[in-house]
Amino acid sequence: MPSAIVLKRRAIDKRYYYRHRRRISVRKSRKWYSLTLEQRQKLAERSRRWFQRLTLKEKLEHSRACVAYTRKKRRSLRRLAIKKLGSRCANPRCMWINKDGSRGCTDRRCLQVDHVFGGGKKEYKKRATIRFYQNVINDLRGRYQCLCANCNWIKRALRKESLFI
Ligand SMILES: [Zn+2]
Repeated sequence: MPSAIVLKRRAIDKRYYYRHRRRISVRKSRKWYSLTLEQRQKLAERSRRWFQRLTLKEKLEHSRACVAYTRKKRRSLRRLAIKKLGSRCANPRCMWINKDGSRGCTDRRCLQVDHVFGGGKKEYKKRATIRFYQNVINDLRGRYQCLCANCNWIKRALRKESLFI
């Protein structure tokens, strides 16, 4: 049995979906991607007007739902991306020793996605984390690898990507 908060959340989500089902179904369908820029802008304008008409409480509820959705999505995508890259620090000389005595950090909390050939800053600046993780998952050219935080920063220093070290 899920907790009361989860049940409440589900009820809110359901109500939210029911209220905005038309807009959501447009976004989710392929239709959104086949629209021209003007048509998309028109839809965006409509949802902007819809948002303005909400009460303050509803606005808060809506933005909270959006934030929660993004967070959940980002977390699950990060998990998938790290899993795809092997869930282990790719540096053969990684100094981290795991609980079972093997080398190469497997602690998911400090594993990071590294761009093998650099250029991460440029991609990071686009600020679309969800898109970034999707790129990692869909990548077939081996542009990304999994490194622990230490190895990642050491690599950065060696490549003189950082100005401070
Ligand atoms: Zn490492």
